[in-house]
Amino acid sequence: MDKKPSISPDEPKVKRGFDQKVFVNRSLTLENIKCYGFDMDYTLAIYKSPDYESMGFELIRDRMVSIGYPHELLRYTYDPTFPTRGLVIDTTYGNLLKVDSNGNILVCSHGFRFLKGEDIQNYYPNKFIQRDDTDRFYILNTLFNMSETYLYACLVDFFTRCSRYTNLLKGYQHGDLFMSYRSMFQDVRDAMDFIHDTGSLKERTIKNLEKYVLSDPNLTILLTRIKEVAKVFLATNSDYTYTEAIMKYLLESNVKTGSPKRSWRSFFDLVVVDTRKPLFFAGGTVLRQVDTDTGKLRIGTYTGDLQHGTVYSGGSSDIICDLLGVKGKDILYVGDHIFGDILKSKKRQGWKTFLVVPELTKELNVWEEKKNLFEELKRLDIFLAEIYKHLDSGSRECPDITAIQTRIKVLTYRMDMSYGQMGSLLRSGSRQTLFASQLMRYADLYSSTCINLLHYPFNYLFMAPPVLMPHEAASQISAEFKLSAEASQLR
Ligand SMILES: [Mg+2]
Repeated sequence: MDKKPSISPDEPKVKRGFDQKVFVNRSLTLENIKCYGFDMDYTLAIYKSPDYESMGFELIRDRMVSIGYPHELLRYTYDPTFPTRGLVIDTTYGNLLKVDSNGNILVCSHGFRFLKGEDIQNYYPNKFIQRDDTDRFYILNTLFNMSETYLYACLVDFFTRCSRYTNLLKGYQHGDLFMSYRSMFQDVRDAMDFIHDTGSLKERTIKNLEKYVLSDPNLTILLTRIKEVAKVFLATNSDYTYTEAIMKYLLESNVKTGSPKRSWRSFFDLVVVDTRKPLFFAGGTVLRQVDTDTGKLRIGTYTGDLQHGTVYSGGSSDIICDLLGVKGKDILYVGDHIFGDILKSKKRQGWKTFLVVPELTKELNVWEEKKNLFEELKRLDIFLAEIYKHLDSGSRECPDITAIQTRIKVLTYRMDMSYGQMGSLLRSGSRQTLFASQLMRYADLYSSTCINLLHYPFNYLFMAPPVLMPHEAASQISAEFKLSAEASQLR
C-alpha cells in the first residue's frame, strides 16, 4: 500500500492503478445511493498483516497450552505464507480443504502435509464435500480466522509427528485418552472466543495501535466527502469502548495542525455498536443507547428519533433504515465479512454491497506477474479441443492426453505457489474458489480498500463488464484461434 491516491483537485488526474480500482460485479449508479454504511474491523480499521495475525496466533496458542495442550506447541510461530482465507476445516478427519462453489476439493492438507490425488480419495472418494453439513465442515471466512487456521494446522502437524501419540483415522490415542480432531477444533474455537471475550486481543491492540492498525489520512477525507452528499453510518460488532479507541485513532489523530478538533462521531449520522451481524440483518436485538461517558448501556429500549452524536447498541438493519429515513436499496454497505456483512445484507435486505478484500493488492500483483501461466492454461484447453476435433462417437481412436493433463497440473501448482502454500484466495488454476463465487454473487462492488472510493465521483456509474456464457465464449475463442493459426502460417 505504498502508492497514495491523488486526492487534491489541483493535482493532475492520473489513470487509476490496478490497486486503486473498484471492481464491479453488478452495475450500480453511485448517484442513487442516499446512504453509506460501514463496518469497522478490517473495513475502516485495516489491521496490519502479518503482525496482527501473529499476535492473535500467540494468544490462542498460549491459551491452548494453559488449558493443558503440550508445551512443545510454544515452538510454533505464525507463518503468513501458509494459510489462505476461506479454507474449510473437516472436523472429522482434521484436514484443511480449499473447495469450489459446489464443494469439489481443490487443495487438501493434513497439518502441513499436502495430499495428492489418491490420498485425497481415501478420505473423500468423490473428491467432494457436502459443505452444507455445517456440523462437520467449518468455513474460515474472516481475516480473524487466519490465526485459527494456522494453529489448527500446527496441532495436526505436532500430534501426527509426536511419538507419544498414535495416529488414528479420526484423531490421536495417548494411553487411555482419545483426542478427536473434532475436540481439537472445538478447543481452538473456544480459545479464539476466549481471547475475544476476555478482551485480551483488544487490549493488546489498543496498547500498540501503530503496530497493529493502519492509519490512513485519506479516510477522514473520504468520510467528509461522503457526508456532504449522503448519510453515513457505522455498524460494528465491536463494543463501544473498543470502537471509541479505534475510531479516535483513525479519525482524530490524523488532523493537520491548525485544523479545528473534530470528534470521530461527527463523521457519522448514526453509530451502532454490538450489532451482532448477521443477526442484525434478520430479527436483530434490542436497541439501547450507550452512555458515552461511562461506556455503559442505558436500560430499556430506545424508541425516540435519531439524535446526532448519540451512540446506539444492538438493534437491527430495519431500525437503522427507520432512524435514518432510508430504504434498503438506497444503502451501499461496505464490509469485509462475505457472510455477516455482504451475503446477509444483500439476501435479506436488498442492500447494495461493497466487499473489502485486503488480499486483493497481492492477488493483483501475482496475477500481473504470472498471467502467462494462466494464458498457457487457456491455450491447453484449445489444444485439447483441436485433438478431438475430427473424432466423434463412432471413433475408436484414443488420443493420449496424459501429457496435457500433467502440464495442467504443473501450471496449476506453479500458479498456486506464487500466492502462498495454500494458493490464491480466489482460484486454483482455472477453477474458482467458493469465496470467489460468493464474492461474485453477493458483492456488487469490491476493492482492496474502501479508500478507493475516493477515485470516483459521487455520480459515477459502475458498469459491470459483459460476461460471456461458455457457448458464447466458445465461438469467440475458435475465431481467435483461427486468426492466430493463420498468423503463425504467415510467419
Ligand atoms: Mg469486519
